[in-house]
Amino acid sequence: MPGPDSGICRTCRKLAPVRHEVRDRTVHMVTECAECGTTEALVSSDATTWQRRRETVDREPVPASHACRLNCN
Ligand SMILES: [Zn+2]
Repeated sequence: MPGPDSGICRTCRKLAPVRHEVRDRTVHMVTECAECGTTEALVSSDATTWQRRRETVDREPVPASHACRLNCN
């Protein structure tokens, strides 16, 4: 099972290490594929909101099977 620092290369669709970099209030996802090299993608233009959301997710993991438990009728 891939860890939080693994992702999929956008070019060859293989598993590759991923890291997030914050630059000038924007968040970039950097994928380091052994075959394709380093590729980057803009994740968020608001690093503060992104980090706050990420911390909330880490604190309160919601299983996919229970994603609708709050307001789902
Ligand atoms: Zn690749």
